[in-house]
Amino acid sequence: MAIDSSNLFEENPDMQFHLQEMVDWNTVVPLREQDFKDYKIYQETGDETFAYAFGTVEEGMEMYATILSGLGELASKEFLKNARLIEEEGFKLKDGQVIFPAAMKKNVQVLTENGYMGLLLPRKYGGMQIPNTANMMATELVSTGDIGLGTLPATQDLGDIIYKFGSEEQHKKYLPKIASGEMGAAMLLTEPNYGSDLQNAQTKGDVADDGSAKVTGTKMWITHGAPHSEGGQIFLTVARTVKKPDGSFKSGGGGLSLLLTHSKDADIVSLEHKLGIHSSPTVQLSLDNSPGELVGVEGRGLIEYTMALMNAARLTVAAQSVGASQIALRESQKYANERVQFGVLIKEIPAVAKMLEEMEISTEASRALVYKTAQVVDIYEGLEEKFMHQGMSKKEAQKTEEYVKYSKLAKVLTPFSKLYAAEEANRNAYRGVQVFGGVGYSEEFDIARIYRDARILSIYEGTSQLQVVAALGGVLEGYSKDNSTFLEYQKSLRGHLPLEDSMKSYLSRVIKGEQIIKEMVAEFKNKSTDFKGKFALNVVWSAILVFISHLFLQMAVKNPDMKKRKAQIFINEMLAYVKSTSELLSMQGELDKPDKTE
Ligand SMILES: Cc1cc2nc3c(=O)[nH]c(=O)nc-3n(C[C@H](O)[C@H](O)[C@H](O)COP(=O)(O)OP(=O)(O)OC[C@H]3O[C@@H](n4cnc5c(N)ncnc54)[C@H](O)[C@@H]3O)c2cc1C
Repeated sequence: MAIDSSNLFEENPDMQFHLQEMVDWNTVVPLREQDFKDYKIYQETGDETFAYAFGTVEEGMEMYATILSGLGELASKEFLKNARLIEEEGFKLKDGQVIFPAAMKKNVQVLTENGYMGLLLPRKYGGMQIPNTANMMATELVSTGDIGLGTLPATQDLGDIIYKFGSEEQHKKYLPKIASGEMGAAMLLTEPNYGSDLQNAQTKGDVADDGSAKVTGTKMWITHGAPHSEGGQIFLTVARTVKKPDGSFKSGGGGLSLLLTHSKDADIVSLEHKLGIHSSPTVQLSLDNSPGELVGVEGRGLIEYTMALMNAARLTVAAQSVGASQIALRESQKYANERVQFGVLIKEIPAVAKMLEEMEISTEASRALVYKTAQVVDIYEGLEEKFMHQGMSKKEAQKTEEYVKYSKLAKVLTPFSKLYAAEEANRNAYRGVQVFGGVGYSEEFDIARIYRDARILSIYEGTSQLQVVAALGGVLEGYSKDNSTFLEYQKSLRGHLPLEDSMKSYLSRVIKGEQIIKEMVAEFKNKSTDFKGKFALNVVWSAILVFISHLFLQMAVKNPDMKKRKAQIFINEMLAYVKSTSELLSMQGELDKPDKTE
């Protein structure tokens, strides 16, 4: 395949391999298009809103490839170069307004002009209506160009939460503006004293019978809290609104609602000075009796809407992390191909070649995991819509066997993706600096910025520790029964694979890894709360590696030349990790002190 290095999509054979061969578009596209409903409307009515709707899976794939190729070109020609200029000029806070650097304005302009601000939103509201899977590829590409800029399409995706939970009036009022880029979006969750512990958030809202509200509180660390467009930012704001009979506010997650507020009604208290992602303005905001609107039902703000929002955003950060790994790999490969030491290119030195190989394999592992997760999300979201079109209520749709299966899988795979891809992006950035040696530690090359930028990925949208908490229940439940949804799904990934003889022993190693985790989980469940909290990461990480091993087996079958050796290396590393983790837990388990019983 000829590689076009002026296009980050065209030069990435692995992304194209997934797009062309691995993603199950035959399932995803008809669900996303609801049997090509928009196309049929266009054929019948000629309504221009649906002019770009397509009528077959193949046409859909072509359209996604066109969108991604366009983004790949922008990422290569604009975002890569602008990242440095944005850092040099910086965002500035002046008279309560955030002034954008010229190169950032350019990024916003090209994304807007090319229609990339509403990729996920329905055509009906001016969006491109691409599935999550293609959207994750898009986020990855933007982030490959500039990790910090990856936050921009991610915040625009918040429109999808308004679409899912807002009223039709709110859809009409906000979605076309978000899709056109006239309006930006941000999520206001974190407060100075409540980050991971979101359920105790203290921002208050008074909601009137008509759903209008007054909101007061301080929110911090708000990405794109400063407007990048004329229409300002719409803020998805978590606030405590539910009251007890005595008039006091109800505590905990059940007291929180989701309210829409607007940047024009909020004061920017400060602009954060960060270690990295300088293409993303982060501010502290204060709302003081600011006007707002209720989304959905009071009290469901955190429990339902923000959980949906965070799950979507977690997957987006996972895709951003794949972009970070990819750019660290790309820059390192380039440098290792030019730098000579001891009379040879450093890429020829086995220790350096090993670092590059580790980067390549973990980048591809992250990508495979993120795209698989996105497909699972596409399937359960599409099924819900399909069942509702067939006349079921939302509640009924969510009780169907198929929906339950895929939403359950998404609950485990989403934190798997965020945890693995973000941690690996950090490792890859670290390895990247190491490949560069001394110049890696200077700002002469982009790898120093990549290293700083990547650091946020395991912190925001729930730290890695919180991803472990989110995944653990699913892993323990999944590995406790042979016929659990998770293990059945995992088995289906390896079932009937036409493996080459040389890969059969690797399948056995994968099954061995699964077996060891089953035994590990059986022991782990009886340990103290303290022990579980300390070693949950090891158990979850083992489960992630076994899951990804299944994806590598599949990829090795589809394209042995490209993937067989990588699959073998990954599976060997997986089994070594799982075995040593099992041994570690059993030795450390001897030191465990059981919980005191009452
Ligand atoms: C650049 C940047 C951009 C951000 N953008 C946004 C945004 O747009 N909107 C928004 O609302 N927020 C945003 N955030 C906030 C971000 O989501 C939080 O920083 C993050 O969730 C962690 O919360 P915290 O900083 O309060 O850390 P803390 O919650 O204080 O955590 C401190 C440490 O304790 C650990 N910890 C805490 N609780 C547990 C637990 N139960 N189990 C195990 N470990 C635990 C954490 O993993 C961490 O290591 C942003 C943050 C940054 C830095």
